Amino acid sequence: MTMLNRVVHRGLNTQLARRDLIVRPDRAMVTFSFDDIPQTAATIGAALLQDAGFRGTFYVAMGLLGTETALGACATLEDVRRLHLAGHEIGCHTHDHVHAEETPPQVYERDARRNSAALESAFPGLQVRNFSYASGSVRVAHKRRLQARYRSMRGVQMGMLRGVVDRNQLPVHKLYAATADTESIDRLIAHNCETWGWLVLYTHDISDTPSPYGCTPALLRAAIGSCVRHGADVLTIDAALDRLSVV
Ligand SMILES: [Zn+2]
Repeated sequence: MTMLNRVVHRGLNTQLARRDLIVRPDRAMVTFSFDDIPQTAATIGAALLQDAGFRGTFYVAMGLLGTETALGACATLEDVRRLHLAGHEIGCHTHDHVHAEETPPQVYERDARRNSAALESAFPGLQVRNFSYASGSVRVAHKRRLQARYRSMRGVQMGMLRGVVDRNQLPVHKLYAATADTESIDRLIAHNCETWGWLVLYTHDISDTPSPYGCTPALLRAAIGSCVRHGADVLTIDAALDRLSVV
């Protein structure tokens, strides 16, 4: 795909197949979300959130569970069970980590539904209600297909959630040690609190030597501390949508 094509698609992805949502919460909100998910997210990341009394959203791709990736070992089904029992949100991240740009919409939808159904049958009582696009790869036709199944879909384009936002492609900020530090994250969270927004952070592995897509325990701990200090409510994606009265 040419650069021009990419730019055109990015514009179309943002403008079309939207489900607009008004974000004007009574209190600022922050969501910690994890994609794929590496075992370190399920253990270290979840424990740091729980220590503060918070829960996160973990977007699981069943096809990756138990495999070795560039992000380290992926979580196992047992890790996902522990997350679910501890009250974290389990979201869908496709089954085989397929890219929308390389997959016909009906195949993509089938893969996502397969993943959600497998998770729900593995854990009785679990409802998979929210989705994140694998590698942030989004297409208009794919947004249209998924919106009947999921309450929200999260992308990787950068942005704050305030005013009118598209819940078919929720924007995020990276919580990556390679591009953020405790000061920059603290400023971001402080700004979100001053402007009554909803900040969705996303990352992958949690390690003292993280991948370029991961975060250190120290940075995650500092981000959690910033939420407490600046008065943000830390909520899962699903709980934040409840707060915004999304049906
Ligand atoms: Zn992913």
